[in-house]
Amino acid sequence: MKWSFRLFTLAGTEVRVHATFLLLLMFVASQSYLSGQGASGAVGSMVFIITMFACVVLHEFGHVLAARGYGIRTPDITLLPIGGVARLERMPRKPSEEFVVAISGPLVNVIIASVIYLGVGINAVFHPGYNFLGAGGFFEKLMMWNILMVVFNLIPAFPMDGGRVLRAIFASFMEYTVATRRAATIGQGIAMMVTLYMLLNHTLQPMILLICFFIFMAAGQEAASVMQQEATRNLRVRDAMLTDFRSLPPDAALRDGVELLLAGTQQDFPVLDTHGGMQGMLTRHDLISALAEKGPGQTVVEVMRPCPSSTEPASELTQALEVLNASNCPALPVLDPADGRLIGLLTNENIGEALMVRAALMKLRA
Ligand SMILES: [Zn+2]
Repeated sequence: MKWSFRLFTLAGTEVRVHATFLLLLMFVASQSYLSGQGASGAVGSMVFIITMFACVVLHEFGHVLAARGYGIRTPDITLLPIGGVARLERMPRKPSEEFVVAISGPLVNVIIASVIYLGVGINAVFHPGYNFLGAGGFFEKLMMWNILMVVFNLIPAFPMDGGRVLRAIFASFMEYTVATRRAATIGQGIAMMVTLYMLLNHTLQPMILLICFFIFMAAGQEAASVMQQEATRNLRVRDAMLTDFRSLPPDAALRDGVELLLAGTQQDFPVLDTHGGMQGMLTRHDLISALAEKGPGQTVVEVMRPCPSSTEPASELTQALEVLNASNCPALPVLDPADGRLIGLLTNENIGEALMVRAALMKLRA
């Protein structure tokens, strides 16, 4: 994440803090100072905020360690003013595993609150209007904070842990995409109901409204990304690659490229040596700009761009799509694994077409 810097690395996971988090610290300290608590009040508030976020880090490590139990690594955790974000390599697809990973974060806060409750013997009741920056014992506030984290994170809506718990429960007896859609709808329903409740009671709180909006968007996003993953799942490169394409030899002139460009709908042309090996790609964009600069007599070898990444027909489409999007070529060469000859091209348009065909066939079967 941009504008974040490393605090420390623990058990292979980097803990980073976002620059805006420092703004929060300064804001809280100045608020305490200005409200008449003086310098010691300002320091005390800052210490409390840092302790609060230490609990957030521990919560995230709950997820991280549970995920590691299933062989999933977490490269980093970033602290933002709104909470922590653990970037897991992937979420487990098995419902029971997702359930454990999702619940392990809030479980850490349950443990911290219980330890304070039993150890310090505090008996205070949490209520929504609790003032964490007001006067009051350090441990009481810390216990309340951990209870709030449990309640907040267990709201059954994406991207909260509760949303994942709900999806895992649904996914244990229904298809993953249907479970995701259902969990996302419930999350959006909750966000809308809370907003409506605030409107009807004239108790509109900007912070809660912002959270509702955030939940509403995130739930839709989660559903959409699972749909897309599902659409390309089980598809291979060979199912979506373009096999009927024209190519150019390295010594061809730009005018030959122009001829091909105008003759059909293909926009980018692979440049092949005599053995069918890929030399590079002449893209429409490069062709047109070189034409204006150097004229039609220029050879394509001087204008083509190298396309170092390639894929094979049997590779998974989802992975190839990532390689294609990361490369600076508009088409990913598909090479024959036996002799390295170019046998196909993978383009975004062709993948789009393959997905449309698949969707149509699925509808026919349903
Ligand atoms: Zn969590």
